[in-house]
Amino acid sequence: MSAKLQTPIDYLKGVGPNRADLLRSELGIETYQDLLNLFPNRYIDRTRYYKINELQRNNAEVQVIGTITGFREVAQKRGKRLVADFKDETGMMELVWFRGQKWIRESLKIGKSYVIFGRTNWFSGKYSMPHPEIELQSENENNLRTAMQAIYPSTEKLSNKGVTNKVVSKIMQQLFLDTKGKFTETLPEKTLSDLKLVSKSEALLNIHFPKSPELLARAQFRLKFEELFYIQLQLILKNLIHKSKIKGLKFDKVGNYFNTFFNEHLPFELTNAQKRVLKEIRFDLGSNAQMNRLLQGDVGSGKTIVAFMSILMGLDNGFQCCLMAPTEILSVQHYTGLKELCKPLNINISLLTGSTKTSKRKEIHENLENGTLQILVGTHALLEPKVKFQNLGLAIIDEQHRFGVAQRKKLWDKGPSVSPNKISFENSNSTSSSSSNSKTIPPHILVMTATPIPRTLAMSVYGDLDISVIDELPAGRKAIKTVHRFDNNRLKVFRFMKDEIKKGRQIYVVYPLIQESEHMDYKDLMDGYESIVREFPQPDYQISIVHGKMKPDDKDYEMQRFVKGETQIMVATTVIEVGVNVPNASVMIIESAERFGLSQLHQLRGRVGRGAEQSYCILMTSRKLGENSKTRIETMARSSDGFEIAEVDLKLRGPGDIMGTQQSGVLNLRIADVVKDKDILHEARYQAKKILSADPSLSMAEHLPVLSTYREMSKYKNIWNYIS
Ligand code: ADP
Ligand code: MG
Repeated sequence: MSAKLQTPIDYLKGVGPNRADLLRSELGIETYQDLLNLFPNRYIDRTRYYKINELQRNNAEVQVIGTITGFREVAQKRGKRLVADFKDETGMMELVWFRGQKWIRESLKIGKSYVIFGRTNWFSGKYSMPHPEIELQSENENNLRTAMQAIYPSTEKLSNKGVTNKVVSKIMQQLFLDTKGKFTETLPEKTLSDLKLVSKSEALLNIHFPKSPELLARAQFRLKFEELFYIQLQLILKNLIHKSKIKGLKFDKVGNYFNTFFNEHLPFELTNAQKRVLKEIRFDLGSNAQMNRLLQGDVGSGKTIVAFMSILMGLDNGFQCCLMAPTEILSVQHYTGLKELCKPLNINISLLTGSTKTSKRKEIHENLENGTLQILVGTHALLEPKVKFQNLGLAIIDEQHRFGVAQRKKLWDKGPSVSPNKISFENSNSTSSSSSNSKTIPPHILVMTATPIPRTLAMSVYGDLDISVIDELPAGRKAIKTVHRFDNNRLKVFRFMKDEIKKGRQIYVVYPLIQESEHMDYKDLMDGYESIVREFPQPDYQISIVHGKMKPDDKDYEMQRFVKGETQIMVATTVIEVGVNVPNASVMIIESAERFGLSQLHQLRGRVGRGAEQSYCILMTSRKLGENSKTRIETMARSSDGFEIAEVDLKLRGPGDIMGTQQSGVLNLRIADVVKDKDILHEARYQAKKILSADPSLSMAEHLPVLSTYREMSKYKNIWNYIS
């Protein structure tokens, strides 16, 4: 890209210091380049003129030719508004100004022919247009009129200070004059011809000043592709650099622990998906690179056993392993489950959480450092500096989205110091650049998530991680029957609950808890709890309640009563959302289900259907449902496929609300949209991979445009924003 594009925007004719400041503060435009990358939101047809009797009540943007027949001032609550009567040969309408009235009144002339442009409102039997763009017809005839005039992103401040769309458009024209519309190509020729992409210059010209809808579409395609291509290139490069630079701990063998467990103690046959994922993990652990893998698997797909068997590979090679979960309840549950599996193998395992007693804590610290403790399970208490492993080989993080990247990094630093007799560590091609932090070798990292992230999004968000997917549930699982019931059917629901309890089942009743309406929500929860207590009296029925305002000890106590089967009903807020495993619970009732997001509903439903019995999920709602709520409820009733549900969720909410996307930069895209432009994203990733696998250092002549664009991006723009 030419140096000219790095010129500060102040130097462009027609900009000047005031407008430059505004463009900088309002739109972040500092250079010619930034202006060029200010892509229009949409385009409007400026060749079409409407008659007043053709206007429709659709609030569309139109332009009309006519004359002002008079001005009026109308008093209103605060101040006054200026109204002009505007007519053409077919009718009358009003133009309205709330600001800048003096100037308008002085500069517009009654009886002259004007062209007005703006959105129309229908108000008390008349059309009106607030703050129209207005121009003498004689001037308008000199304008470049196109069927697709670009409308740029703007802010209220910009338009108030006179930097209207017309001004931005003029400045843009000046930029094309200054640069003669010639811009350095940023994609390899081969990619352009393979995909029949238009050149950079042609794309930029047509995105700002489209000559036809076809050329606009091609310009958009090319620019979206380019944007996604460079993000993917960054991610793939990062991953490649990672693999070549960061030495891993090599787990050479599959040994006694693994084999004994596999042959003698595996409680069930693994699903094909579990086997495949284990192979992928085994391959990573046996290579020289550090594993950084994301394991996605729907609730109940059996991630835990995969985690455990990966741990066994670590133990077989003399390493310690740890498993971190986001909550106390979950880590206790993991600990309890894994301890059972460890027993016949004589493996030492401990639990460390915020509530571990000091004496126990000390013991754990010691045993970690002297190496007698083999597996440590816990909450983020594991991250404390005091927790030092003798030789941590594998760290597993459950429910990834509750932990941030920073925490993943902390685990890295807990790896063993280099001690060559213990660790088979390839240093044949070690470079000086990695020697500064080669005191510790990062453990292999496996992050597990039950929030299925659509693949497209995962590629952008977790592009620097390798991804494994368990896409198959263990055999014999019965699909959970999901139904929608309105609040006034509650009595029937109670009857159904009683029948299920009679059969020995347990039931969850979940209430929403949204921060903003916390007070109301607790009231709903307590009211609901009381009505259940009334309907299900002791001693026949025992009821647990768990919510966020309880002390951890009390919460735990109530939770344990339900886990042990001492209570039949668990009334709770969403604290039970993640991971809790009570196989005998077979009914999930979700109150005010319309207030939950799709992924949350899916997570909650995943708490049942874990045993052999038929399970049910009942979504209770009021009669009044918005469009989106309806879609969510219908989706839940129709589908139990987490990935399908995640796709619907993505469509409903956009990527902004999906876990994990916030820091990922997929939201900072200028022109592409990871949801709508999924196909382009796939193509971009494919092309980026193809180029890098042929030429990882981008040193071939034909890849020069890629190399220089990549360098330019890292130099001038904080491209690393794109990467988590
Ligand atoms: P999640 O992926 O949600 O963490 P879990 O690992 O808790 O799922 O597994 C859910 C349940 O399924 C557990 O009770 C587990 O023992 C069981 N399970 C896991 N894999 C299999 C399998 N291959 N066959 C039968 N049951 C399995
Ligand atoms: Mg789990």
